[in-house]
Amino acid sequence: MVRQINRRAVLNLIRTRQPISRADLARMSGMQRSTISLIVEELLQEGWLVEGDAVPLPRGRRPTFLRLNESRVVIGIDIRPTQITIALADVNGRFLSQEVFPTPGSVQLAVKEMVIRVQRIVALCSGKTIEGIGVSIPGRVHPTTGSLTFVPNLKWAGEDLVTPLHAATGLAVVLENAANACVLASLWFDQGAYGSATPDDFVVVTVSEGIGCGILVNGRLAKGMNGMAGEFGHISLNPEGPKCGCGNTGCWEVYGSNRAALRYYAEANPQAATLSFQDLLRLAAQGDELAVAALDQMAHKLGVGMRMLITALAPERIVVIGDLTKSWSRFGSAIEAEVAGQALPGAHRPPVVPAHQDGLARLRGTVALVLQKHFSA
Ligand SMILES: [Zn+2]
Repeated sequence: MVRQINRRAVLNLIRTRQPISRADLARMSGMQRSTISLIVEELLQEGWLVEGDAVPLPRGRRPTFLRLNESRVVIGIDIRPTQITIALADVNGRFLSQEVFPTPGSVQLAVKEMVIRVQRIVALCSGKTIEGIGVSIPGRVHPTTGSLTFVPNLKWAGEDLVTPLHAATGLAVVLENAANACVLASLWFDQGAYGSATPDDFVVVTVSEGIGCGILVNGRLAKGMNGMAGEFGHISLNPEGPKCGCGNTGCWEVYGSNRAALRYYAEANPQAATLSFQDLLRLAAQGDELAVAALDQMAHKLGVGMRMLITALAPERIVVIGDLTKSWSRFGSAIEAEVAGQALPGAHRPPVVPAHQDGLARLRGTVALVLQKHFSA
């Protein structure tokens, strides 16, 4: 047990401080030099680390520097209602390849497509060690069975992705909610990205076809029974409101998602052709008043929903992920104004910030999903 904890601590130090010498590992971890040597030897033998050339220093010392072995790789799959991305990344989260294809209509077809592409990647990975496959999905995953409990925008509830993917590829498969994966990505890769240490309490809100929330409480992901914790996107703001993909009416996501903004625009301009959210952002940037109004309404509703999050969880910050962060000057201040409007006395007012490296957050989360068992304390 102690040995496992020490080993993870050493791996984490190397990951965040590499290249690093054994002497610095001992100094920074507070462990004995002999303990460090044993752990490092084991990690070198297992192929987690590589050792650089000896560096001559004054007084004859010749320390060698340790790095994570970049031939250790992870396959990441990000499933969305419209498209699936498959990527290969090294242990440092550097992406070596990425491919995108439209999401097939059924789980069976989706698994078939994913397996073909994973096998193609595996064939190109000779000389590398594939640590596993991390999969993120806009839905909830049962913590023990791994089956999908709630996937309103894909209609895949009750299905099992893990077993057939593992059976066809022989690789370990870890499946997680996309927003939870983004929480892990932030913990894993964003140390210092927001100007201070990663806090123990923060919330990631993913905004796309729907609204997803990943919640870190006291340093741990909130999962809840059946993995269902955090579905703020499906709290009804108005029982008389539009129908939601979950079967209820007036959920936060039917007012604050990309789809909601497109609906606001279509309602105000029924003659307009069908647009994508990207089109809407572009129209607004060009000064189209109806597009600006639709996005303002979306921002306002995002803020209304975030007030629930803040009152319930008192996060240090809220990190937003989605295409809207490309127009953050439009959204950020509108959301924060809404959030500040009804803050409780005594409550911390959390900054609402766009995610660091937004476009890669879900994929980086899939990498963290696979690696976390070796690194996390
Ligand atoms: Zn709903």
